[in-house]
Amino acid sequence: MLLVPARPERNVANGDAPNASEWASLDAIASDVRSCTRCSLSETRTLAVPGEGSEFPSIMFIGEGPGFNEDQQGRPFVGRAGALLEELLALVPLKREDAYITNVVKCRPPENRDPSPDEVKACWPFLEAQIRLLQPRVIATLGRHSLMRLFPDARISDRHGTIMKWRDGIVVFPLYHPAAGLRSDRLKQALQEDFAKLPQAVIAALDASREAPPDGDGSRPADDAPGTDEAKDGGDEPQMSLF
Ligand code: SF4
Repeated sequence: MLLVPARPERNVANGDAPNASEWASLDAIASDVRSCTRCSLSETRTLAVPGEGSEFPSIMFIGEGPGFNEDQQGRPFVGRAGALLEELLALVPLKREDAYITNVVKCRPPENRDPSPDEVKACWPFLEAQIRLLQPRVIATLGRHSLMRLFPDARISDRHGTIMKWRDGIVVFPLYHPAAGLRSDRLKQALQEDFAKLPQAVIAALDASREAPPDGDGSRPADDAPGTDEAKDGGDEPQMSLF
């Protein structure tokens, strides 16, 4: 499942534009992320944060960008937001090592500001390649930036906890960012309710994969990512053995 054409000679550190199909492994992506200087976030980061988790995840979580603790440790979701994410995963139940966790941008924006459109665009090939290699059934976006990367017109307040069809049979399940749950009891409750619906998203993904063309290559560039695919009901109550 993880075999794609071998990566040709390229120098990400000098700003060569990478193509998402060029990486042969998650380790190769992580190596290039750690040496990447494609945007100005490389000038202020301590450590880049490529992502981590299962190579065969049922669910891929995509946050917005590393925070202070992640920047210090080079790992995603290790601060208070990470602790809440693990608490929420336990509701499913799911362990973080069963999923794959990464971010839209792999380097911390200074003062935890929003990543700029140029930074998001510069970092997209890494995320695109991770999705291509991991082939998750479900992508759970955490926060509005990761949702908008896949569905530019979607609003997190409208779409959280709903099932959206993306491409190649992949279901997108928008969630609020755990950091928002730390700031608001109302949003924490919404997160708890939405995480309880994650198994429904997996069932929807199984249905969607049966409908998808068998040889879809998933190579659509980010700017062409669909923004209007319909949300649909989650269906019957699932069995926990799905995970
Ligand atoms: S945020 Fe992404 S594109 Fe920018 S320097 Fe880090 S890895 Fe490279």
